Amino acid sequence: MIQQMERINYDYFIVDGDIVRPLGVGGHKTHFLNCPFYGDWTLNGKTYDLILSDLLPLLDEDFYRIKLSDIAWKGFDLDMSVRGENCPCCNGDRFRDCDTTTPGILLDCSPSPGSTQVDGKDIKNPGGRRYRCLDGKHRIEALLSYEREYGIFYVLNISDIKKYLIEL
Ligand SMILES: [Zn+2]
Repeated sequence: MIQQMERINYDYFIVDGDIVRPLGVGGHKTHFLNCPFYGDWTLNGKTYDLILSDLLPLLDEDFYRIKLSDIAWKGFDLDMSVRGENCPCCNGDRFRDCDTTTPGILLDCSPSPGSTQVDGKDIKNPGGRRYRCLDGKHRIEALLSYEREYGIFYVLNISDIKKYLIEL
């Protein structure tokens, strides 16, 4: 999927011509919940928190170039009046200040036995999209605002993150 990757130093890579700066994960959480505004982001009806810094050991140097239209993120199916510049979670600050050289983190929810199941059932993403954004929705909105079609991401599956899920 990635054609060419060059390591510049410990902090920077050039991946298919794009600068990539890993390890930009802060202390925040991603929430798997049903929310009146963003819709059903539970994992098969169950509500969880995930602390993103817990995932650091899983984030190696495997980056993937993923089509943005294959990703579901909170707000992707809403009107632009509540996205990007108008993001209700940050008044657009995190959209304006984000660093698109840091790869976001995706959960691959494509059906493959054993890897995507919670309670014996496959996870369905809103909109039926293959990937769920765990970190980086402001970066995706920024890439879209530059009319980019693809972004560079870490990709995890449920078996990777299962032990870090905090059931609420
Ligand atoms: Zn925001």
